[in-house]
Amino acid sequence: MEKTIAINAGSSSLKFQLYDMPSETVITAGIVERIGLKDSIFTISVDDEKIKEVTDIPDHEVAVQMLLDKLISHNIISSYDEITGVGHRVVHGGEKFTESVYITNQVIADIEALSELAPLHNPANVTGIRAFRKVLPDIVAVAVFDTAFHQTMPPSSYLYSLPYNYYEDYGIRKYGFHGTSHKYVTERASDLLGRPQEELRLITCHLGNGASIAAIEGGKSMDTSMGFTPLAGVSMGTRSGNIDPALVPFIMEKTGKSAEQVLDVLNKESGMLGVSGISSDLRDLESEAAKGNDRAELALDVFVDGIHKYIGSYAARMNGVDAIIFTAGIGENSSYIRERVLRGLEFMGVYWDPALNQVRGVEAFLNYPHSPVKVIIIPTNEELMIARDVEVIRAQR
Ligand code: ADP
Repeated sequence: MEKTIAINAGSSSLKFQLYDMPSETVITAGIVERIGLKDSIFTISVDDEKIKEVTDIPDHEVAVQMLLDKLISHNIISSYDEITGVGHRVVHGGEKFTESVYITNQVIADIEALSELAPLHNPANVTGIRAFRKVLPDIVAVAVFDTAFHQTMPPSSYLYSLPYNYYEDYGIRKYGFHGTSHKYVTERASDLLGRPQEELRLITCHLGNGASIAAIEGGKSMDTSMGFTPLAGVSMGTRSGNIDPALVPFIMEKTGKSAEQVLDVLNKESGMLGVSGISSDLRDLESEAAKGNDRAELALDVFVDGIHKYIGSYAARMNGVDAIIFTAGIGENSSYIRERVLRGLEFMGVYWDPALNQVRGVEAFLNYPHSPVKVIIIPTNEELMIARDVEVIRAQR
């Protein structure tokens, strides 16, 4: 039996999901948190039960070793040899990586060189890659990039209206993120609609703590709301989304903050948290708004209106749309947000049934059968995409 592990390494965390392939069955999943700090937390699911252990885990290598030991001690695997592949989520692939790749020393160097574009994420991703190479040097390792799916965008989508040499000299352009998720729901939508991707125009709404919308034409990303960094686009949990760039020096002058500090505000203190002053979590805002809190309501209005406008503009971008897809924590679960995003879109052929919208976390059509534009909830599965890419690359070797 072949087992593939999907890894998402952050600077102090490591999420894992172990698959039996090719059946695509999830065998176990878990997370190591607070790596490098005191009282690190190791959590693993065994027989639908979450087992937690608090202990000091000094670095990612120790975390990987502990993960493998736990797989053995919980009888999930009997030897390391059962794990035949590992897939690593990597945030930034720049223009270099347009698809998942087999990891070599050169690939690691390239990912590190792209750290300038993703200073918080790429170095952490590389730490995870290195830890696995050390502990399991002989298994096939694959890098799966958040940006890769959006590399099909035309220049008119990815170029900023700036001096052209900024693009040439500094790589300043829109890259887009959440690519693995947008790709997954595109494939599923094609299956669910029973139509080839090549003939579909989709608007995919990945709405989680981070949120991005994409226009997907013929199975290829045509445009997306995030930009040079994941800060751009719609309002998010704590991120501002698009703002007038002239605000940065203005805020600096008014508050005495440095550019770095303002960027921190835009990333961590803005979005729904900033507007509401209450929380970045949609569930909190929904319940506060229901109790009549105006600022919670306002934060939801800003969020919803941004998504609604992107749908209109992406429908124009593709000269029409065949289906609108909702995914990620909010998209999959919040009937309230979906309803408010969809309300009023009848003018462009979106006829949806409020009764069908009362579902959460499952694949479901929300449109009336006669609606020219379909509306579908598709729970995303980035880990499965990673595991699949590992298998494809393993088969090629
Ligand atoms: P991340 O971007 O961190 O992966 P998720 O995709 O998990 O985020 O989405 C987190 C968001 O989903 C939070 O705002 C949370 O409130 C929201 N969410 C999760 N479950 C529900 C629910 N049942 N109803 C409404 N919102 C939900």
